[in-house]
Amino acid sequence: FDQINSIRRELLIRVEGERVPRPFTAFNHLLVDQWIKDQINKVGYEKPTPIQSQALPCTLQGRDVIGIAKTGSGKTLSYLIPMLVHILDQRPLEKNEGPIGLVMAPTRELCQQIYNEYKKYAKRYNVNVLPIFGGVNQHQIWKDIKAGRNEIIIATPGRLIDMIRKKAFNLASRCTFLVIDEADQMFNMGFEYQIRSVVGQIRPDRQTLLFSATFKQQTQNLCSDILIDPIKIIIGKVG
Ligand code: ADP
Ligand code: MG
Repeated sequence: FDQINSIRRELLIRVEGERVPRPFTAFNHLLVDQWIKDQINKVGYEKPTPIQSQALPCTLQGRDVIGIAKTGSGKTLSYLIPMLVHILDQRPLEKNEGPIGLVMAPTRELCQQIYNEYKKYAKRYNVNVLPIFGGVNQHQIWKDIKAGRNEIIIATPGRLIDMIRKKAFNLASRCTFLVIDEADQMFNMGFEYQIRSVVGQIRPDRQTLLFSATFKQQTQNLCSDILIDPIKIIIGKVG
């Protein structure tokens, strides 16, 4: 572990928390389905980025994680893979009970990127993803909701609250995997109230992950309120 710490110092990586799992260095060491690893390989990722290397062992173990790393550093995979594993672990699933995994991101563009990325890894498993953000065919969404195809939701906070108000689904029954992505940008856009209101509907026995490019006071406060015994990972110099 001394060696891990000296490498971390060299790479400007800070990790805080109790019982932090060791980082991993190659995707084929990950304890997930071979097909997922083949898919990562097919997408063309040779090795994990620093945030992936530090965060994935923690997120895959079910820990709450705060991941701070600049834009473009590969944060998305650090929660998409564990979310997929979390859902596969619970199969066979009942229908119509609302989402198990929820990802919130600030803009429709970001949600679309996350959605596209997710489909690459989920397509083999028949996991159903509801895109709740602007520019998506509402008719198809409602069809999927009515059919109980709602295991994962990727949403902007405003649209999500709108759908909850319309009683499209509820978060209270089986949502146990929550991701708040681009937290700093969410706050800049004034989504704090919406985020807190959504999180307030989700069971406390969930796994909660928060990712951000910076770690400002508002984000720190939210983390203290909604994460339990988190591991905090900071890559590089951040504001
Ligand atoms: P962030 O959320 O930190 O801004 P993303 O997860 O969107 O970063 O990833 C940024 C880009 O890097 C994407 O184009 C993604 O496909 C690519 N990427 C992610 N992980 C890796 C990796 N391990 N190796 C190479 N490229 C990667
Ligand atoms: Mg991102």
